[in-house]
Amino acid sequence: MTVTETRRATHLRCSEGCGTVVAREYRGYACPTCGNLLEAVNDPGGGGPEDWKQTWRQRRSSNHSLDSSGVWRFREFLPA
Ligand SMILES: [Zn+2]
Repeated sequence: MTVTETRRATHLRCSEGCGTVVAREYRGYACPTCGNLLEAVNDPGGGGPEDWKQTWRQRRSSNHSLDSSGVWRFREFLPA
């Protein structure tokens, strides 16, 4: 992953498929959930506030303890 690709990316996603997505501004290359590498994702089709809200709504109904947690549901905006 080059610096250029990181800057163009809209967000970072866990390369191991655990479902973790973090903001592009996330400082680090390791998944905060499982510790595997994050990969840059360029998604020109979305990423607006409505998409975030939908993601949070889905997480709120998730059985995953991390996702249903009040804090970690908004982990994209937590300081890394
Ligand atoms: Zn992960």
